[in-house]
Amino acid sequence: MLFLLLASMAVLPNSALPVAIATCHPQEDSIDELFADDEPDGCRKCDHRGVNDCKLHGKMTELEHAAVFCSQAAACKKCFGALLIPCEKCEGGPESRVMYERQGRFEHRLNQPDPCRDQFKREIVRVEGEHFVVQIDAHKLRNGKSKTDAHLFAHLMLQEAEKAALLFEGHFPDVWYTGEKPRIWFWGKVDDHLTAMHHVLGASGSGDFKLMGPAPVSTASTPSDHLQNKAKLVAMLGVHSAIHLLLDNACGEVWLGQQKAGWFDAGAAHWYEMQLFNQTLNYCIDEVKLRANFKNGQWFVHVKNHLATHSEPILPAMLRKMTGHLDVEDHPFSWSLFDWLVRAHPDKTTDLLLSLKAKRSSRAAFQEVFKWNVARVEQEWRAWVAAEYPSKNPKPRKKL
Ligand SMILES: [Zn+2]
Ligand SMILES: [Zn+2]
Ligand SMILES: [Zn+2]
Ligand SMILES: [Zn+2]
Repeated sequence: MLFLLLASMAVLPNSALPVAIATCHPQEDSIDELFADDEPDGCRKCDHRGVNDCKLHGKMTELEHAAVFCSQAAACKKCFGALLIPCEKCEGGPESRVMYERQGRFEHRLNQPDPCRDQFKREIVRVEGEHFVVQIDAHKLRNGKSKTDAHLFAHLMLQEAEKAALLFEGHFPDVWYTGEKPRIWFWGKVDDHLTAMHHVLGASGSGDFKLMGPAPVSTASTPSDHLQNKAKLVAMLGVHSAIHLLLDNACGEVWLGQQKAGWFDAGAAHWYEMQLFNQTLNYCIDEVKLRANFKNGQWFVHVKNHLATHSEPILPAMLRKMTGHLDVEDHPFSWSLFDWLVRAHPDKTTDLLLSLKAKRSSRAAFQEVFKWNVARVEQEWRAWVAAEYPSKNPKPRKKL
């Protein structure tokens, strides 16, 4: 009885969905109607859930539950990605709603355009989280002593990027975003990366690439010298790029890296990479990449010692640079100044971001938000580093 009802409700138009979807599941409005008065309470066979778990996802089950969408899960012949199947012994229960909502979401996502699939004429693993969409076409990445396939890696990559986004939102609690969710692409073949960059994104060039703006994308190939098909290194770049793209669209679409606030843009990208991996290996200009393992990407001790033994001011010159103009030596200081901002002054972070997004110079933004000139900022930052930084760097993480 109930399922017949669902099938007829499913053809109701839903204004929230921009594309017509051939559907056999109820959409959100009809789910609300369905459960408005009288929620069915399942039976003993399903533990009064109204549903049973789909058993076809094995060790991926937990990662699947954490994702908003996964193209591989969507291909499941039994649950179509919902991870739950209706209990055959009853008319549903409290978890039926979860199942229908997930089914509806998966159908909607499956019908969304996928420019990579269109370009390559094949399915490319796509996993979506709250903040990012990850697409992976690299099938053999080494992760410690084992290997990941594209599907597992896409979930692990997404998990790291989402962790970084949650930390970011802990630092900037009132943040809002414009534009689409940033997309993170990795290709197992250099040629496919180039095809994606040239023909899908319409960009030129040959190295890693980030498209800023309302539909942000980062694309790279995994066999490159600096990634070596290693899952951890690929994920570190993914997290680094994810933060650049997220920040670009946070509190208004302004790329701080092109303003005189490159330290904030680069410092943030390094910070979340460092926080998750105890190491930061990615830089955003090609010349710097040649020396990408500056101090092995472990910077606490370097910054502490450098500041203790060099008294000439660092910030007056650094605060004026764009991301691409930062010297390799500026990167640890940019990271550290961002570290000082988010850890020593958590009540000022959003105001400083807003001031920079309003295209004020770093100098003017510090003056506005902290009422401090650059010399005072430098003095406070140095004192905090001297007091807070450890005399030994934490050990880099070994694998994902
Ligand atoms: Zn049941
Ligand atoms: Zn999946
Ligand atoms: Zn399934
Ligand atoms: Zn960067």
